[in-house]
Amino acid sequence: MKWTPGDRGNIEDYRGRTGGGAMRMGGLGLGGLLVILLLSWFSGIDLLQLVGDPGVGPAPTDTVGTGGTVASTPEEEKTVDFVDAVMDDLQDTWSGHLGGQYSPTAVRLFRDAIESGCGFGQSATGPFYCPADRRVYLDLSFFNELHQRFRAPGDFAQAYVVAHEVGHHVQTLLGLDGRVRQLQQARPDQANELSVRMELQADCYAGVWGHRAAQSGRAAQGRVELERDDLEEGLNAAAAIGDDRIQRQSRGRVSPESFTHGSSQQRVEWFRRGFDSGDPRQCDTFK
Ligand SMILES: [Zn+2]
Repeated sequence: MKWTPGDRGNIEDYRGRTGGGAMRMGGLGLGGLLVILLLSWFSGIDLLQLVGDPGVGPAPTDTVGTGGTVASTPEEEKTVDFVDAVMDDLQDTWSGHLGGQYSPTAVRLFRDAIESGCGFGQSATGPFYCPADRRVYLDLSFFNELHQRFRAPGDFAQAYVVAHEVGHHVQTLLGLDGRVRQLQQARPDQANELSVRMELQADCYAGVWGHRAAQSGRAAQGRVELERDDLEEGLNAAAAIGDDRIQRQSRGRVSPESFTHGSSQQRVEWFRRGFDSGDPRQCDTFK
């Protein structure tokens, strides 16, 4: 993929506020903090170092685009710029498709665990979208997992994951998310099937963006542009994180009734449909 770093306007960086030290710090409370300060004073050892950076408290809300104090590597920072560039392109694409119906989202970066509008989120569950606060939650370590555990390397594989989550944002903006949840409550027996359809539609929406990103000449305008083999990476990622494959990897067997994302084949098919058409109307997985 070709892309140009931007201003990180699509990133809410909570990496320095989450993770081991910061989370424990957050749970410490003022009393605990005082005890540690007193103990440090008496012992002459900076015990705060042991529980995390004192400047890093629970996340305030005014952190849009700020780096904060975060231990990172140049490599990781490049990935942040990449996610920002992909998000920028995604949002531009969807505001083009939805016009006034579109309202922006952002990627909230975290480490290990975070309190989201949808409850406690953990890295182990993978990236997710929260309709309540309309944010995409991502721990960048998932990209390593994507490469190593799911054997889906490449930048477009990563972009596909982000694009899928933005697909859920689009569903929320279109009111689909709420309607499906109502249906699921009315028909619990179909709840799983309905959530599979939601997931496949998000895959198709990811493909819709891919279609646009594949147009040539975009890089020259500072936009994201796909290169040869990128589509293969995306298809490979869609197949790799299909529920059947994940289940086989983690449990050694497959039980279709518990699929929540769809099989590898279904995911590839719907992603492909969005990619080939570039038309969100082709993504009606509920028909
Ligand atoms: Zn999803």
